[in-house]
Amino acid sequence: MPTRSRRPSSACADTAARCRSSPPTRSASASPRSAPTTSRSRRVALGSRTEVGRELSIAEGEDGDGSGGETRAFDAVVVAAGAHTRSLLAAVGVAVPVVPYRVQALVADDAYDGPMTYDATADAYLRPHPDGLLAGDGTDPVPAAPDDYRREADDWFREDISTVLRERLAGAAAGRDSDREISRAWAGLCTATPDGDPLVGPVGATGETDPALFVAAGWQGHGFMRAPAIGEVVAEGVLSSLDGVAFDAPDSPWIETFDPTRFDGDEAFEITEGMSLSERADGE
Ligand SMILES: Cc1cc2nc3c(=O)[nH]c(=O)nc-3n(C[C@H](O)[C@H](O)[C@H](O)COP(=O)(O)OP(=O)(O)OC[C@H]3O[C@@H](n4cnc5c(N)ncnc54)[C@H](O)[C@@H]3O)c2cc1C
Repeated sequence: MPTRSRRPSSACADTAARCRSSPPTRSASASPRSAPTTSRSRRVALGSRTEVGRELSIAEGEDGDGSGGETRAFDAVVVAAGAHTRSLLAAVGVAVPVVPYRVQALVADDAYDGPMTYDATADAYLRPHPDGLLAGDGTDPVPAAPDDYRREADDWFREDISTVLRERLAGAAAGRDSDREISRAWAGLCTATPDGDPLVGPVGATGETDPALFVAAGWQGHGFMRAPAIGEVVAEGVLSSLDGVAFDAPDSPWIETFDPTRFDGDEAFEITEGMSLSERADGE
């Protein structure tokens, strides 16, 4: 069996160089509202086109699935459909252990301008927000139905976070518990994998030398921050695979740890909170 080595992507290397060139002054955060604007201008500059608002399905061959919709053929298809990834790929007989689960967050009016903070004991994070602070992560460690899950935050999550805020922001939030205003509290879906790492690379029965189907999913709650670098890995990886470069070739851009074929796809596993350190072995 060939030995695969873990290589940093060129995107990661570039990012590291940029980080070193400007000394950090304070922690920063980005929001899902601002990110699409930034990435859109990059995509337009690269000549790519984006279509939104259409539900897609995938089918093998060139005749479509017979459902009567418009059918288009592509050299390569990347399934990065978040919580719907598993069901989309199942339609073409590809099994991936990417399981959706609920994660919660809230915005409270506590004044907080400190750094992004993760409380590893309470498994909770908080960061500044224009309306006060944003806190999470309220993991509900059971599989959720992608089209039918509870969008509202649970009472236990609100209570747990209030306790964390009371204990960790003792100075700023002293006496605030009774009149703390939570302006928003919600739940969204993240996706878990058996080992907590994503699946990024070619899948399917076409074989490593002629892949046309790819997956990028299973971020265990960390997909937003990894998206810019992973986007470049996927773009470079798809092109190299179409050029016939094997996944594990020395010049392949794919990341060995994220190899989608490391699982059978039908594994049963426990969903763990993505930021938790308790599942990590010493030294990881
Ligand atoms: C409350 C909360 C807080 C979070 N905080 C952070 C954080 O601080 N940092 C971080 O890195 N990550 C965070 N995450 C996780 C992050 O949001 C996800 O990891 C990330 O959004 C995953 O990106 P994705 O593109 O794989 O999936 P998604 O963002 O779910 O995007 C998948 C897209 O595919 C579309 N789609 C699905 N099926 C179809 C279909 N059949 N046809 C067409 N389109 C389809 C969906 O509509 C969706 O737009 C948080 C998540 C939640 C819920």
